[in-house]
Amino acid sequence: MKPLKKIELPPLPYKYNALEPVISQKIMELHHDKHHLAYVKGANTALEKLVKARKGELEIDVKALLRDLSFHMNGHLLHSLFWNNMQPPQDDNLPGGLVGDLINKSFGSFEAFKREFSGAAKTVEGVGWAILAVDDEDNLYVVQIEKHNLMHIATLKPLLVLDVWEHAYYLDYLNNRARYVEEWWKVVNWDDVDKNLQR
Ligand code: MN
Repeated sequence: MKPLKKIELPPLPYKYNALEPVISQKIMELHHDKHHLAYVKGANTALEKLVKARKGELEIDVKALLRDLSFHMNGHLLHSLFWNNMQPPQDDNLPGGLVGDLINKSFGSFEAFKREFSGAAKTVEGVGWAILAVDDEDNLYVVQIEKHNLMHIATLKPLLVLDVWEHAYYLDYLNNRARYVEEWWKVVNWDDVDKNLQR
């Protein structure tokens, strides 16, 4: 039996204060060191239980455990993408390269894409994410995820993700999620999005 790999918390690709004033150091410390770490721990606990169950050492509620695993695993994967999707604030932050071309082809213009993605981010019910994803034939889609795991669209691959759980913005923006979303465009790392597309 192939052993399941233990998940580790990846370090941030920049300093905790690098995204200020769009996202404060305090939020980044809590978000990365507490929230993301909790998803890593939760995923590892679920994986350990699965390994024991496969060996017949533990009786599990399969449905509940798989839900727990997808919640924590997707929480970990989405946050890992999210950190890399950002960089210090830029003026006129527009996508170039392949992803810039593909956005223009798929949405007609960057403005139309931004409207659709921001609309998705502002209207996720409760807590969740807005995501730009690509399918096997280079079609781009904007999708919403409630919590971390109420999706799994077979072949869609996420390129750019935005966390709209309250822990991602409340300390800076209180209940004004819309303003957080608008400010967030300044810290998008389009080179990273382009790299995800080319991979
Ligand atoms: Mn989060």
